[in-house]
Amino acid sequence: MINALKLSDGFRRNFVREVILPLMAILLLTFAGAGMGLFWGTSLTNNEARDQQQRMIEASFAQSLSEHLRQLRSLTRWSPLADQLALAHPDQSWLTQNVGGWLYDMFDHQLVILLDRDNQLVNVWRNGQPVPDKRVGPYLHEMLQSPLVLSSDVAAGPADRADFVRIGQRAAALAVGDISSTKQAGRYRLVSIKFLDDGYLRNLSDRSQLRQLHFSDTEPAGKTKARYLLNSQQGNPVGYLSWQPDKPGAQMLRTIGPSTLLSVMLITLLCLFMVRRIWTSSLKLSQSLLQLGASEAQAQHLAFHDVLTGLPNRSLVEDRLTQALALAGRHDQRVALLLLDLDRFKNINDTYGHHAGDEMIMEVARRLNDIVRASDTVGRIGGDEFIIVMPDVENIGQVQSLANRIIARLSEPYQWVGSELWVGVSVGLALAPKDGIDRLELMRKADIALYEAKNHGRGQYRQFEKVMDESLRTRQQMAADLRQALVKWDGLAVWYQPLMDISGQRVVGLEALLRWHHAERGDVSPGDFIAIAEETGMIIPLGEWVLREACKTALRLPDIVVAVNVSPVQFRASNFVERIVEIVREEGADPTQMELEITEGVLIEDEHEARNSIIALREAGFRIALDDFGTGYSSLNYLSTFPVDKIKIDRSFTQSLGVAQNSTAIVESVVRLGHAMGLTVTAEGVETEGQKNALADAGCNQLQGYLFSHAVPFEEIEKMV
Ligand code: C2E
Ligand code: CA
Ligand code: CA
Repeated sequence: MINALKLSDGFRRNFVREVILPLMAILLLTFAGAGMGLFWGTSLTNNEARDQQQRMIEASFAQSLSEHLRQLRSLTRWSPLADQLALAHPDQSWLTQNVGGWLYDMFDHQLVILLDRDNQLVNVWRNGQPVPDKRVGPYLHEMLQSPLVLSSDVAAGPADRADFVRIGQRAAALAVGDISSTKQAGRYRLVSIKFLDDGYLRNLSDRSQLRQLHFSDTEPAGKTKARYLLNSQQGNPVGYLSWQPDKPGAQMLRTIGPSTLLSVMLITLLCLFMVRRIWTSSLKLSQSLLQLGASEAQAQHLAFHDVLTGLPNRSLVEDRLTQALALAGRHDQRVALLLLDLDRFKNINDTYGHHAGDEMIMEVARRLNDIVRASDTVGRIGGDEFIIVMPDVENIGQVQSLANRIIARLSEPYQWVGSELWVGVSVGLALAPKDGIDRLELMRKADIALYEAKNHGRGQYRQFEKVMDESLRTRQQMAADLRQALVKWDGLAVWYQPLMDISGQRVVGLEALLRWHHAERGDVSPGDFIAIAEETGMIIPLGEWVLREACKTALRLPDIVVAVNVSPVQFRASNFVERIVEIVREEGADPTQMELEITEGVLIEDEHEARNSIIALREAGFRIALDDFGTGYSSLNYLSTFPVDKIKIDRSFTQSLGVAQNSTAIVESVVRLGHAMGLTVTAEGVETEGQKNALADAGCNQLQGYLFSHAVPFEEIEKMV
């Protein structure tokens, strides 16, 4: 959850930085550029239009001025007028009709003035009508005296001119034309005035196609209108023209504006949508990448750690060991390797269930972790096998003390649903570079040491020694040879050692003992090869074979009980009881004539199961003897729990008779106890008459030993019987 939050926070920041900000910048730039372009285009178009309109109006004014002049000229160059004026008394009504009236009617010349050679007013017409007394306002009067009107150079011939002028408060277009056709009339001059009134402007407006054309004396206020300062040709301001400018740019903006806005909105929306999609898809991507990373890390962890304890697994420990060895090689240091195997852990699993077993393994892991140094590596490499790599070992005492602490700590009780469980541990240790500098070599040697520790009674540690390796090699060779012997049934034989009655005179039973004659080594002691057969599982076919042989012997000697040794390995095999019963039946022997010798080892492993097997075998008719009695730790306890028929006092007791103090007393008490429980008591290893007598005195029932006979082939026993 926290991870997810962190992710989305960092992710969000990243996303904003890498996607949203650049996108916003692009959008802003694009829009700003488009907006500026639009604005610029609009104002450019507008300005151009305004300039054009201005040019148009200038042209219109110029044109109207020149028209004005042309209209005037149509009179000044008209000879009948000159002729008329040449008369001593020109016809006034003719003049009105053809000059003032005509100009007004035809061309709207509002004020027409005829001046004589002395610039005296001859006639004045206003709106086509003669003005009585030729009265003109003072401003007009002033105007008529102005250079514009007077400046004509008479000598140079007639000259026409026109201009815009101000007459008092009014602006007007003024044209002057000399009437020149006759010498007498040459000095007459016609002045025409058109006021820039609405009519004039309308005319202008029609021509220039400008809307709302206005004339004002002062600069018009307001910015919406276009304006034009009308100047006279002398450069005197005449007045302002203002009009409603055509704004094609604005028009264009109005047309394309909404669609542009719409597309801006659309693009923005599209971008938002895209951002959303990119957001979700990259969020998904980053999440799945994260998940991938997590599961990769998890897989990585799983690949190198034990699931139950979380300890490094074999491959990780091997890796660490390799590293430690490489480092030690360079810095001249020592590395210790400890292999641990829990003793009788299988019991816990079988008796209390796997759950208890798992709990115990976890607790063992915890305890180990508590004991070791931080630089050490504790790993689990098998069901109840652990490994410790100690780099940088200063002295062997350090390793030994660790091994001792491990053994002590692990053998403390474990709590399991209210009850206390115990387990032991065997430790094998090897040291680099003494025992090798190669990982595999070191592992192998620690393993040998562990095997030795287990073989020497468990609950202890063993340090690797060269001899161990040699004995291991021998054992391996012997195992191979034994397998060969088993395949060909070559060199194997069953010999028999007699059991005598207490007088030592009569053979009452036989113990079948396996013999192996090795082609090179000669006779191999069962003490050596039985262990190998047990380790390799070969004891099962071997034991069955011995039993078959014993059955045959029993059939030949019907009065004698034949005893067969049963290894704990055989005993624990799942269908052990059925196999025994079946073999004896197949051989046609009588189970009551057969005796099975078991050791305490059988009982210790699984009391409950062992008890059931013993009961089943006894029910099938077999006799059960407890072999090597007195060598284990709680023999007397077992006697009360397991229903056996015989105890065989171990030869170490027999041979201590008369040597160790109170050995006689011990034997006597064992015999008494056996008898009290209704058991036959046999003594093994009787080698002397003294032992024989002492045993007889103690009350033993049967005797066995070299004093009577070694184990011999069947033919010899047959003779003895
Ligand atoms: P065990 O069952 O205690 O067998 C008795 C051993 O004591 C035999 O050694 C026997 O030769 C030896 N012995 C007999 N009398 C004397 C004596 O007066 N003095 C001395 N010092 N020893 C005596 P062996 O034949 O070497 O067998 C050793 C062990 O091998 C046996 O001990 C038995 O545990 C095992 N073994 C032998 N044959 C078989 C077999 O067929 N199956 C199984 N499972 N174990 C066998
Ligand atoms: Ca025996
Ligand atoms: Ca024995």
